[in-house]
Amino acid sequence: NPAEDRSFEPAESVCPFCGVGCGIRYDPATGAARGWAGPVNTKGEVCPKGVAAWDAVDHPDRLTAPLVREDGALVEATWDEALARVSDAFARVRRDHGPDAVSFFASSNCTNEENYVLQKAARLFGTNNVDNCARLCHASTVAAMADRFGVGATTNSFDDLTETDVFLVVGANPAENHPVIFRSYVLPALRRGAELIHVDPRETPTSAAATHHLPVRPGYDITLLNALAATIVDEGLVDEAFCAERVEGLTAFEAFAADVDVDAAADRAGVDPAALRAAARAYAVADRATILTGMGLSQHACGTETVHALLNLPLLTGNVGRRGTGVNPLRGQNNVQGAGDVGALPDRLPGGRPVTDPEARAAVADVWGVPAAELPAEPGLTEVEATHAFGGEVRAAFVLGENPAVTEPNAGRVADALDALECLVVQDLFRTETAEHADVVLPGSAWAERGGTVTNTDRQVLRMRPNATPPGDARRDLDVLCALGARLTGRPDAFDYDGPESVFAEVTAATPPYGGMSYEGIGTGSQRWPFSEDAAEGTAVLHRDRFANGRRRAPLRVVEHVAPVDAVADDELVLTTGRVIEQFNSGALTRRSDRLVRMRGTETVQIHPDDAAARGVADGDRVRLANARGVTTAVAAVTPAIRPGTVFATFHTLEPLANALTGDALDPVAKIPEYKHSAVRVSVDPVD
Ligand code: SF4
Repeated sequence: NPAEDRSFEPAESVCPFCGVGCGIRYDPATGAARGWAGPVNTKGEVCPKGVAAWDAVDHPDRLTAPLVREDGALVEATWDEALARVSDAFARVRRDHGPDAVSFFASSNCTNEENYVLQKAARLFGTNNVDNCARLCHASTVAAMADRFGVGATTNSFDDLTETDVFLVVGANPAENHPVIFRSYVLPALRRGAELIHVDPRETPTSAAATHHLPVRPGYDITLLNALAATIVDEGLVDEAFCAERVEGLTAFEAFAADVDVDAAADRAGVDPAALRAAARAYAVADRATILTGMGLSQHACGTETVHALLNLPLLTGNVGRRGTGVNPLRGQNNVQGAGDVGALPDRLPGGRPVTDPEARAAVADVWGVPAAELPAEPGLTEVEATHAFGGEVRAAFVLGENPAVTEPNAGRVADALDALECLVVQDLFRTETAEHADVVLPGSAWAERGGTVTNTDRQVLRMRPNATPPGDARRDLDVLCALGARLTGRPDAFDYDGPESVFAEVTAATPPYGGMSYEGIGTGSQRWPFSEDAAEGTAVLHRDRFANGRRRAPLRVVEHVAPVDAVADDELVLTTGRVIEQFNSGALTRRSDRLVRMRGTETVQIHPDDAAARGVADGDRVRLANARGVTTAVAAVTPAIRPGTVFATFHTLEPLANALTGDALDPVAKIPEYKHSAVRVSVDPVD
């Protein structure tokens, strides 16, 4: 057991799972994780995943030594051998094909410091091919919000939610996937009379708390959102005073809305027109209405356009720039916000500044002490674009704490792509499904072994502190990344840090919205961005008097329905994928937690009774899901909780492997895949 040689000391840290950012630490009395009263979970409350967070830390599967591939098998090696293997291979690829033939996958599950060091290493190596898996969840939300409001982040804070009168929850299931926000901020508001509108094809624990549930047909979100906006216009519920002051394009939008046949649109979107109108009224007449938005909206090949349609609602009704209002994307991982903030994006330097901006490159180069000409000026490849280029334009890849073999669409193609690389390097806790394809595997650190900061969903920067030493010969991720950065770039001085605090000091210098922060200032609390160097504190409510782009007004935007990429034949159903409370993302951590696996029980695919009857499927039958991209099997859960014509599977498991069926189409702006709409044939598994 790798726990035998380790030391443990409880210290305030942050949960490694969702973007809520609950405070947790090791509890020696129970040998598990336990909540402490952090800035978000102020009473120390945590969800089942938080309690189970320790299970991966001392799991017997932990990697305790570097691995290198010899004669087809991964065998143990020294750190020097493994790092030399990486630097030699990457240098060879750069020499033969140029720096853009190497791609770096940063991680929304690693700290700001680790992501910052990795993107610095990539850029000093000579490429902007660095991205993180925010690409897979809210890239479209970020793109649309940045376009319209000037910044792609939550407009408000969790604290605000206690003042909200109406919650419009779209394509999200916070009761399961952001449980501490839901229980500690949303439910108290509902108890004092607030309403909740839930837009989702499934009935979930979130819809159970809803006043209105609109079970939208997957792929018809724009149609539904336009019908909500048209109802607001048609029924005279536009906030004229707000629009006069803060909004552009009202006349043109009203003309567009007048042409929307709300009954027909509701019908196409698969919801009851009267229920849709009631929801539109509730949202529009509320004094303070907020939007909580999730991946049901963002994970489409038209995700950016879909979020644009959503953003018309707060602008029409004056629900932005005040407490209790706004648009709040619920982020899926504990540092999905921060990874992008500190520059782990192919088109953005730290602080969200474009790589194409010479002044921005000069400012970052100045902090790094290198000539600005050394920083690449062309945007790099996004994660899925890079995977599509593996074996061609891209010859080598470094993957930090991500598991694209399970999480990227069209898993069969991803597996072939990973094998097509000349050198794949994976840094992780376990031999993940991606690591099985690797040439070098570097044993990294779990949440409880790292120090540094993460930035949660509502822009709070929180500190993690080590509770344990890594097992065996595993090392802290930051130390590995600094060693690798020095070798890959030939600039040891640029990666000579005295621990995470000194990296954070450089982050604040290179990232203007973090400029006023400090380790000491964060302490066991938090500091929230934007927090410029000359400010006394961060900003909770954005866009109060001006939008973040400096403009007083934001535009309304006419958005037309975009057909889903997969046409659905008469005998096919629409597969939509998502998450459940007991598991997390690729399951690399949570499938190794016996308690979470027991809680979840048999993994199932939800199918409506009508669709099940038409296919002779009974509850509990093993079913086969197939399309041209792949095939997988699962146990059927026959339930009216899923709308007819739709099946739901999580992407946490290998059985079913939902991403065997999802497609390669990407949103043209944000490059996010279409996880929420895949045509599949469902039948009783003949092997059953
Ligand atoms: Fe962790 Fe999120 Fe659960 Fe909090 S709500 S304990 S951050 S998974």
